[in-house]
Amino acid sequence: MTLPPAPTVNPLWSAPPPAGSEGARCSGCVWHYLGGRGKAVDRCRRHRNEAIDPRSPACPAYTAAVDCLTCGACCREAYHSVEVGPRDAFVRLHPDRVNARDGRLEITRSGDRCGCLAGGPGDYHCVVYADRPRTCRDFPAGEQSCVDARRRVGLTP
Ligand code: SF4
Ligand code: SF4
Repeated sequence: MTLPPAPTVNPLWSAPPPAGSEGARCSGCVWHYLGGRGKAVDRCRRHRNEAIDPRSPACPAYTAAVDCLTCGACCREAYHSVEVGPRDAFVRLHPDRVNARDGRLEITRSGDRCGCLAGGPGDYHCVVYADRPRTCRDFPAGEQSCVDARRRVGLTP
């Protein structure tokens, strides 16, 4: 089978990629994945799971990899609350870090960020990482919630 020619512009967003990523393709972007109903096809998480040609030139949201230590978005203002299940071991291990609000449990905040987040850009880290609740353990770096969080704090356009 002969493949069609590779696209010369990104059909979803034809503006240039970030500085330093000239020549990059969708195939090298962390938001690219293979999936969908039926036959899996190349798709983009940043563009709400639109089908893409992985050979397309990268768009402005091109991201080669995510680094949680530099980002911290999901523990910062991207979310206003980190809920904890009542039976999560975190509640027993860190009762001083748990608040009840509107009938639910959540981790105590420190300003607009989770109260367990320490450090700053390049060194964001969780002070209770080994004991972090299920909500945090299940948060998938590089997947849909991650791109949403990064967009909310302006790290991914
Ligand atoms: S976000 Fe990444 S995968 Fe999506 S269109 Fe842009 S470069 Fe391609
Ligand atoms: S938003 Fe994604 S990259 Fe950023 S800290 Fe959370 S999981 Fe890591």
